[in-house]
Amino acid sequence: MSDSVEFDAVVIGAGFGGLRALHDLRQMGLTTVLLEAGTDVGGVWYWNRYPGARTDSEAWYYCYSFSKEVLAEWDWSQRYPTQEEMSRYFQFVTDRLDLRKHIRFQTRLVGATWDESANVWVVRTDDGQSFTCRYLVSAAGPLSKPYLPDLPGLDSFTGQWYQSAYWPKHDIDFTGKRVAVVGTGASGVQVVPVVALSAAQVTVFQRTPNYVLPARNRPLDEAERVAIKADYDNIWERARRQFYAMDLPVCEQAAGDLSREDQQRVLERAWEVGGFRFLFNTFNDLWLDGKANEIASEFIRNKIRAIVKDPATAELLCPKYPLAAKRPPCGHNYYEAYNRENVSLVDVSENPITEILPTGLRTATDKYEADIIIFATGFDAVTGPAQGVDIRGRDGRRLSEAWETVPGTYLGLAVDGFPNLFTVAGPLGPFANGPTMVEGQVEFVTAAIAHMQRNGAAAMEPTPEAVDAWVRHAGEILEGTVLANAATANSWFLGANIPGKPRGILAYFGGAGTYFDRLQDEAASDFPGFTSIVSAQTAQQAVAVNS
Ligand code: NAP
Repeated sequence: MSDSVEFDAVVIGAGFGGLRALHDLRQMGLTTVLLEAGTDVGGVWYWNRYPGARTDSEAWYYCYSFSKEVLAEWDWSQRYPTQEEMSRYFQFVTDRLDLRKHIRFQTRLVGATWDESANVWVVRTDDGQSFTCRYLVSAAGPLSKPYLPDLPGLDSFTGQWYQSAYWPKHDIDFTGKRVAVVGTGASGVQVVPVVALSAAQVTVFQRTPNYVLPARNRPLDEAERVAIKADYDNIWERARRQFYAMDLPVCEQAAGDLSREDQQRVLERAWEVGGFRFLFNTFNDLWLDGKANEIASEFIRNKIRAIVKDPATAELLCPKYPLAAKRPPCGHNYYEAYNRENVSLVDVSENPITEILPTGLRTATDKYEADIIIFATGFDAVTGPAQGVDIRGRDGRRLSEAWETVPGTYLGLAVDGFPNLFTVAGPLGPFANGPTMVEGQVEFVTAAIAHMQRNGAAAMEPTPEAVDAWVRHAGEILEGTVLANAATANSWFLGANIPGKPRGILAYFGGAGTYFDRLQDEAASDFPGFTSIVSAQTAQQAVAVNS
């Protein structure tokens, strides 16, 4: 496209967003390179190889929709694929679409500076390289900067310790070991039942309990696989309309429309079917109405009380905040694990872990022996990855500073003062099924780039007014939901899980369908929320593109 830049586009991260961006930008004829810190593709599915890691969403919509070849040729083995199966899927997609040769593995972005005189990004990597590009597409992932609590004494620990999100590639033998698991989010609840199968003792340190929905995994048989493939057009149609971008029917009933018996029947049915249906196919006011939410929340508490035999443990496992104020994990015999003789629960909500000892952990009052500690302590979500990278836009303004108090974007994808930077899965993008959400976003990014090419624009960026309006809109939506209480549940949605991180809404909770409509309107109306910079050179190129 241009003689003066080394690449038309640089993409960061080989997960769902990055690979789709790489594919689409190359299809547009743009010279594109993807930088990936790992040794292979997969993004979160490359790094999070902890025991029990598998998807919480069903295979047939937790995947790409765009490639007919991939949809036809890839077969899912089970309802919720394991990390290993997800890794193989990413490798298959990468090789089938011939993307590997455009990826630089073991290469981490350390900085990018907007050169205003040339309208290019100057990108720097950790191997000391520097090159220019016109478009910078960050798909570094909202949950890619693991958080490790700052606990004194970790260096003195004589056993082994691991972070779920940086799990080693080799197997860990838990046989006969005393294992401490810190954290009971989506990662911790997958780790516990699997490690309990071989460890001598598993001690789970819980600060805030979660509402863990039963996943009810099962293998997919050939007939189901054939049926899924035949239905893909409908699956994507439904997923793009559904609130969370999942292939689930739209829920029509409010809790108040039903008798008490029918409410329980609906909840029971969703509990039995398993997975996120409990959130999306029970009451359509579950997210909006405290009373409806409490009916569903209490239903789960009663399930916990029925499953977990020790009443004191059961009560500790019962969350007291509204369902969905934290992202509920899907579990595979999570509550059942507490009925095992070798699993115990320690409540550290009032009596926190204060120190790691050479042989275990301690709180203010007690000591716990451990041979292995697993930290499933989450992520500095959404804005975290940008904090460690020196991205500077116009006038040398740093992205980390721009996002310090209010992580503003327009449509989750672009920031004023940072021309031609696209933040796939960035702040205030929709809280939704990742693959479907980022595919919609990448389509918007390529539409924006095509718009620039047609119009001879060297760059575009959102107006501050558009960013402010989107931030306000996302905030107003949050206020109308039960999620406004998320801060009290230490939720990463609000940055509330990281000590010292400013509290601010990090995701758009208006629903994926509404969001996709908004992206389409913006593109169809020639991007009214953006301003463009036209240079003599790009104007000339536009003539070539349009002729
Ligand atoms: P998380 O939900 O943030 O959970 C982190 C856990 O660590 C929380 O229980 C937290 O307690 C605890 N913790 C943090 N610091 C602690 C400390 N000093 N002492 C004791 N406990 C501490 O993180 P995650 O489980 O990795 O999940 C994050 C997100 O990643 C999920 O919401 C989901 O979106 C995604 N994820 C998805 C899957 C999947 O789809 N299969 C699997 C894993 C993760 P508090 O709650 O009190 O802060």
